[in-house]
Amino acid sequence: MDFIAHALWMYIIFYNKPYLLLAIFFGIFPDLVTFTMNFFNTLATRKYRRFNFKDPETILPHLPKYIFMLYKITHSLVIFLIAFAVVNLVTRQTPFYMLAWLLHIVIDIPTHTKKFFPVHFLYPISNYAVDGFAWANKKFLVMNYIFILIFLLLRILSII
Ligand SMILES: [Zn+2]
Repeated sequence: MDFIAHALWMYIIFYNKPYLLLAIFFGIFPDLVTFTMNFFNTLATRKYRRFNFKDPETILPHLPKYIFMLYKITHSLVIFLIAFAVVNLVTRQTPFYMLAWLLHIVIDIPTHTKKFFPVHFLYPISNYAVDGFAWANKKFLVMNYIFILIFLLLRILSII
């Protein structure tokens, strides 16, 4: 799923929680860590002029290899569980805000095809990935944002 939709869903889910901002941060953390540096680099060097955004798969060969490694690490349930346990032990509190990271991975598993950033959610134990549908699919984008708008309204109006 896209970055903004991830943030908005976390806003909706954790709306009433005192740790809302932390939850939003962890909800976008996997993509933030993976793509931010390259995003600014691509803008600064104007590399995007060579990209064909109509066919995102053609962008893949232009991306540095470290991106795919970071993506695997930040989108792994195994790594998440380890990080969750460490923070739990160190702070002696359950970091509920980190569950937004778990939700990010769970949402990404079916919304990525094997061709474009498949989610190796069992990494480093296994490289298995589900061949889902593309989140950039227009029907999904429209439906997703309609649901986001509905749930945002329900939250703002205190109906849910
Ligand atoms: Zn992601």
